[in-house]
Amino acid sequence: MGDHHRAQVLVVGSGAGGSTTASVLAEAGFDVLVLEEGSRHPASTYGGTATDGMRKVYRNRGMLPILGTVPIGYVEGCCLGGSTEVNCGFWHRVPPEVALRWKARYDLEGCEPEQLEEHFAWAETQTHVSTWSAPLPPSTQVFARGIEGMGWRYQQVPRTVRGCRGDNTCASGCRCGAKQSMARTLIPTAESSGARFLTGCRAAMLLRKGRRITGVLAELTHDDGSSSLTRIEADHVFVCAGPTQTPALLRRSGIKYHVGDTLRIHPMLKVGARFPEAIDAHKSVLPLLQVKEFWPELSIGGAFFSAGHLAMLLSENWTRTSHVMSDLRRFGTWYVAVKGNGRGSVRPSFFGEGSPVIRYELSDEDLRQLSRGLARLASLLLAAGASEVYPSVQGMPVIDSRVDAVRWLDDLLPRSAVSLTTVHAFSSCPVGERKDRCAADSYGRVFGFDGLNINDASMLPDSPGVNPQGTIMALARRNALRFAADHG
Ligand SMILES: Cc1cc2nc3c(=O)[nH]c(=O)nc-3n(C[C@H](O)[C@H](O)[C@H](O)COP(=O)(O)OP(=O)(O)OC[C@H]3O[C@@H](n4cnc5c(N)ncnc54)[C@H](O)[C@@H]3O)c2cc1C
Repeated sequence: MGDHHRAQVLVVGSGAGGSTTASVLAEAGFDVLVLEEGSRHPASTYGGTATDGMRKVYRNRGMLPILGTVPIGYVEGCCLGGSTEVNCGFWHRVPPEVALRWKARYDLEGCEPEQLEEHFAWAETQTHVSTWSAPLPPSTQVFARGIEGMGWRYQQVPRTVRGCRGDNTCASGCRCGAKQSMARTLIPTAESSGARFLTGCRAAMLLRKGRRITGVLAELTHDDGSSSLTRIEADHVFVCAGPTQTPALLRRSGIKYHVGDTLRIHPMLKVGARFPEAIDAHKSVLPLLQVKEFWPELSIGGAFFSAGHLAMLLSENWTRTSHVMSDLRRFGTWYVAVKGNGRGSVRPSFFGEGSPVIRYELSDEDLRQLSRGLARLASLLLAAGASEVYPSVQGMPVIDSRVDAVRWLDDLLPRSAVSLTTVHAFSSCPVGERKDRCAADSYGRVFGFDGLNINDASMLPDSPGVNPQGTIMALARRNALRFAADHG
């Protein structure tokens, strides 16, 4: 395994940000060691049941509540490759308007569309971003029918896949290896350039000498389940532990300036819809289209679907709705996601370990957009031929007419009854030159410290309004190249 007690560059976390950092810096000739809290899983062990996947590759077995007046269910990956192992691989570049806003509001250098072009192009090559070329699965076809019925704009979203067979295992790890997650792409590239990956190793605290970060104190889990603490020295540390763990680690280490105070998410409301015909959504790739008509404030698309996901959605009104479970083949699930202009926070747990406390206050604007989004999504699904739409809102009757659907253009969903989820979190340590708003400079160098960088979802200045992996990888590569140029 080599000497894991010292590295020139220590990267904490092996997800989208950490693997990009490790691969770019190892290729540039740096001695790179990556610490990953989760385990390494070969593709052959992926794709079991949802519960098996939750236990194996998710943090806290998929139970990470975001607290607030409206609690929100959140999940993130905890394994080699991070959340890229369990995500759907939908790929977007940051919309030009958003990037320009980041310049205007945070004075983020080097983020104009032309400056990011080469970094997106690189990331798209590494992860084989491509569109589906086989006939569209029925759950996508009915969605397309509905969008066309409404006369709206849409796009087939490219994904990070190569040779996807559509066997519906994205969320518990792609068993056929088609999804081009970090474990399939940049981690092998980084390893072939000499980077070392140490799994089962959780960074507990950053080590400091005055204002210089000198390494981490890490908790190493051994094969027999026991654990020990070890000091790992480094010239430079990149914290890439994701949007909730990066601020938690920094704050545990006494680094608090604009850290963990500005968490943003894309709040998401799901609905189930029953069609007259079988669409077998549980057996195919998730619906591949997103409605662009109301974007980036509002995004409408298809959600990952299994019997368990349908049961969870129906459980909001179980006594009335459980009987439709037997109609699984005629169901699919869809979502409306909003850009999210509420604000949240991340704080480490009181005793310095365990899950951080994550909060997000759903804004009135979020609720208004979710209500309008439900009106539009339900109208679309009814236009596609669905007989009923089942929103994940406690006490709400099924929507079976377009008049019932459009009332949510004007009315507000009941705050106390909506059941929301998210898989997109970011902006807990925003970057930019505005020291009054940011935790680190435009290239992720944490203000007030030497040898400390952040390079993951936590650095996005605020909500991108689109699936974030592409933007995280493009910014992370840009920052790593800048670091290499400064220290080469
Ligand atoms: C179910 C799901 C579906 C999604 N779908 C999409 C999609 O279709 N398209 C898209 O663009 N995005 C999607 N996302 C979001 C996307 O995957 C994330 O935004 C992205 O992976 C975040 O990158 P990151 O590097 O910040 O964090 P992660 O990729 O989550 O990686 C962080 C890593 O750090 C490790 N870590 C944390 N703390 C420590 C510590 N103290 N010590 C050592 N290691 C630590 C974690 O175990 C993890 O492996 C989805 C996410 C999920 C969960």
